[in-house]
Amino acid sequence: IAAIHYAKKNSRGKYEFYNPGIINSLRKRLELEMDLRHAVKRNEFTLYYQPQIDLKAGTVVGSEALIRWIHPIRGVISPGIFIPLAEEIGLIEEIGEWVLRTACRQTKQWNDQGLLLNVSVNLSPKQLFQESLVDLVRSSLTESSLSAKRLQLEITETAGADLFVMAQKLQELEEIGVGISIDDFGTRYNSLNYLKQLPLSQLKIDQSFIRGNRHDHQDVALVRMIVALANELSLQVVAEGVESAEHVQFLKQTNCALAQGYLFARPLTAERFIEQIDPIQRQLSEMIMSEI
Ligand code: C2E
Ligand code: MG
Ligand code: MG
Ligand code: MG
Repeated sequence: IAAIHYAKKNSRGKYEFYNPGIINSLRKRLELEMDLRHAVKRNEFTLYYQPQIDLKAGTVVGSEALIRWIHPIRGVISPGIFIPLAEEIGLIEEIGEWVLRTACRQTKQWNDQGLLLNVSVNLSPKQLFQESLVDLVRSSLTESSLSAKRLQLEITETAGADLFVMAQKLQELEEIGVGISIDDFGTRYNSLNYLKQLPLSQLKIDQSFIRGNRHDHQDVALVRMIVALANELSLQVVAEGVESAEHVQFLKQTNCALAQGYLFARPLTAERFIEQIDPIQRQLSEMIMSEI
C-alpha cells in the first residue's frame, strides 16, 4: 500500500510509468485480501445448498453445499472471486474446515427431520494435500453424527498433482466411508488417468457440455460417452448446469441418473432449500406426466 501511495503522491512525472489500471486493481486486491482476513475472523460466510435430483424417481436426493461471503458493504460475493484468493493467501484451510463442519451439521439436522439427503462438499486442491484432512473429515462426521455414506467430497483435476499421493489420500477417505466425486469432469487434462488411478464414486459432467447448443453434435457425443463410461465403471454420474426441460429429456435418454441446475433450483439458503423440496418434486412429477 505504501508503494502505491508513494507513486501517486510524489512521482507525478513518473506516474505514467505505472498503469493506473494496474494500481487500481492492485489496491482493490489488497482491500479484498484484508477484508477476507476479517471475514474469516468474523465468520461472514454462509452456505447455500443446490438441490440434486434423481431424474428417474423425480425426487431431491441431496444437495451441493456452495459457500457465499456476505460482505458487510458489498453484499454477496461469489466463491469464484474469493476462493482462489483464499487459496493464494493461505486461508482456504480454515474456510474449508468451516464449510465441512457446517454442511455435515446441517445435513444431519435434515436427516433427523426425516429428510434423507446427501451432501456434496467442494474441496480445493490445497485442502486435499493438507496433512490434517482425513482427521478433519472424521471429526466433522463424529461431531455431527452424520453417517459417512451421506457425504461426498468433490475434487477437481489439478495440474501437476501427484496422482499417487492423491490416490493414497483418497483411499483413506474412502475407508472412512465417504464418497469421492470428480467435479467439472472432462474440462482439464488427464481425466482418464484420474479415473484409472483414484478410488472415485461419482463423476460430475461439467456444465459446459450440458449447456452447450443441443445441436452441437460434439457435446451430445461427449455427454453420451461420459455417461456410458461412468455406468460401465459403476460410478454415479451427475449432470451440472441443467437449465431446460430439453436438457432433462436428453439426459434421461443417455441414462444419466442425477442432475443439478437452475431448471430445478439455484443454490438456496438452508431455510429456502427445505421450502423448495416439495415444489421442485411437484414440478418434476408434472414433467414426467407430460412425457407420458
Ligand atoms: P462447482 O463446484 O462446479 O459448482 C457449480 C457452480 O455452478 C456453482 O457456482 C453453481 O451455482 C453454478 N450452477 C449450478 N447450476 C447452474 C446452472 O444451471 N447454470 C449455471 N450457469 N450455473 C449453475 P458457484 O456457487 O458460484 O460456485 C463456483 C465454484 O466455486 C464452484 O464450482 C466451486 O469450484 C467453488 N466453490 C463453491 N463453494 C466452495 C467451497 O465451499 N469450497 C471450495 N473449495 N470451493 C467452492
Ligand atoms: Mg462442485
Ligand atoms: Mg462443477
Ligand atoms: Mg468447480
